Parts: sequence; C-alpha cells; structure tokens
Amino acid sequence: MYPVGEIQKEYNINTISKELELSGAFILGSSTTASRIVGMNGELILLVLTEAEGRPAVNGSYFSSINPADGQCLLEKYRNKFSDCNFGLQGNLYACEGKSGKVIEVRVKRRTGGHSLVTALRKTLEGRYPDKSLALGGTFIIQKGKAKIHIMPREFPAYPLNSVHDIEGWMQPYEVSAPLVCLSVLVSRDPGLDLRVEHTHCFSHHGEGGHYDTDTTPDSVEYLGYFLPAEFVFRIDRPRNMHTVGRD
Ligand SMILES: [Zn+2]
Repeated sequence: MYPVGEIQKEYNINTISKELELSGAFILGSSTTASRIVGMNGELILLVLTEAEGRPAVNGSYFSSINPADGQCLLEKYRNKFSDCNFGLQGNLYACEGKSGKVIEVRVKRRTGGHSLVTALRKTLEGRYPDKSLALGGTFIIQKGKAKIHIMPREFPAYPLNSVHDIEGWMQPYEVSAPLVCLSVLVSRDPGLDLRVEHTHCFSHHGEGGHYDTDTTPDSVEYLGYFLPAEFVFRIDRPRNMHTVGRD
C-alpha cells in the first residue's frame, strides 16, 4: 500500500482459507476494496464465511468510501459482478472455524488513557508478556459515544506516501456515532514478519463506517468485545520493501 499503492494486487478470501487449511473458515478483519472490481479504493470491513464443499461463501462485508457528491462517508454492502470474495492491496484478517466456544470478553466504560481500545489491549499484552508475540482477533461494539475513523480517497495520489504525515494528509477523517461494530486484528509484538501490529475497521446500520482510530468521547464511551488468541500467524505475499507505517 505504501509508498505507492499497488492497486493491481488482489487476493481471494476462499483461496486464502484453503491455503490456511481452514476450508469454510469464518474470516473477519480490515482490508481494502479490490480496485479492479469496485473501481476505486475503499475501506473494506471484511466479514466472510468462506466457501466449503457443497456450500457457497456467505459475504457479509461492507465497504466505505468518500461520497463524491458531498464528501461524506458512504457505507455500502460489498458486492460486485466478478466475485464478491476478492480484496485488494492489503488485509489484516482473523480466521477461525466459526464454532462457538470460550472467548475473551472485554467490557469497558470510560477511557482514562490516551490509547484506543485496541492499542490498550495490545500494549497490555506486550507489557504482561514482553518476550512473546501474542495475536488476538475478534469483534467489538462501540455501544455509546463517538469514534474517530478515516477513509482513504478513491484514488491514490500522484506522489508517493512516504511517511505517516503524508498518509494522514491524504486520508479523510470523520467523527461517527455508536453503535459501531468493529472487526479487529492485533499482535502484541511483530515477530519479525514485518506486520502491521493492529488494524480495525467498523461498520454500522446507520450508514457510517471505516477505519477505526479511537473514540472521541472518553467519558461516555462504552465497549463490549469478544476476542480469541491466534494459534498461528500467516504472512501472505510479504512486500519486498519494508516501510514504517503502522508500526505503532
Ligand atoms: Zn484500515
């Protein structure tokens, strides 16, 4: 994605599921629309029950983009005419069997520190297990309050995005309202795979969604989340060039 977005990069979620040897997996996370299919960049809020023998994939994904008519956030169901299971550029995804079982419940009222919920979880894990690399995936709802999100523009700029400063200048920030359903993947420490250490996208049923940065209402915010530790971390199509974006 950085410094120059390789928009021809495209990945199929069913293929990934098979590569993980988890056919029919339930996969959620944060990704980017496939430009070839949707015709533009967008924040993909990925939620797919992948195909299994005798059953097609069920795609519950959304994507958000900047509405050219008014510059506001536009949230749509992710459907397209070629395949509804491709995404583009990059993704931080959590795959599981989709079965019920024990999970970690996180309930939070009020935010007392400067970190977002996801960063706080990540820093807490890192502090408690400094020698380990622990990954969590899951979903949480922002039940009350407002959140700061961003949406990337429909096109990449003509110049390379070389720094966080460049990227922040390019992305469009929004303040959106609860209830927001967030899909999140985090790793307490990069195990040397050049990973983005956290990535969370959110959708709603009132037309708002995108890349979750943090909440903007620390005194009134309420979160309810469910997470599970990962058994394995897979790195697919690792870029040759490293960058420093998303390292913290
Ligand atoms: Zn994102």
